[in-house]
Amino acid sequence: MKYCSHCGSELLDEAVICPKCGCAVEGAKKPETVVNASPKSRLIALLLCFFVGGIGVHRFYVGKIGTGILWLLTGGCFGIGVLVDVIMIACGSFTDKEGKFVSNWNLD
Ligand SMILES: [Zn+2]
Repeated sequence: MKYCSHCGSELLDEAVICPKCGCAVEGAKKPETVVNASPKSRLIALLLCFFVGGIGVHRFYVGKIGTGILWLLTGGCFGIGVLVDVIMIACGSFTDKEGKFVSNWNLD
């Protein structure tokens, strides 16, 4: 048996929310954090895409060599691909070569 740290009422061991006061029970499972995040920096990807996206540098950066070369040869799909990529990166929907979201703004 465990007790609510807020109101002291008895709780079932599997309880995540106190039925009496509605507070979250300490020690209960926390919601899973985003595990599908790329180690690549979103800030660097965005800057690369913005300044040199026309030669696909941001795609090389996240490991997408194939489309990077395509971007290099076509000037970023004639500018349209670069524009789409800038929006995707800014929104956090851009993915690296493993399909993980480039969502981390940190530089490491
Ligand atoms: Zn309570």
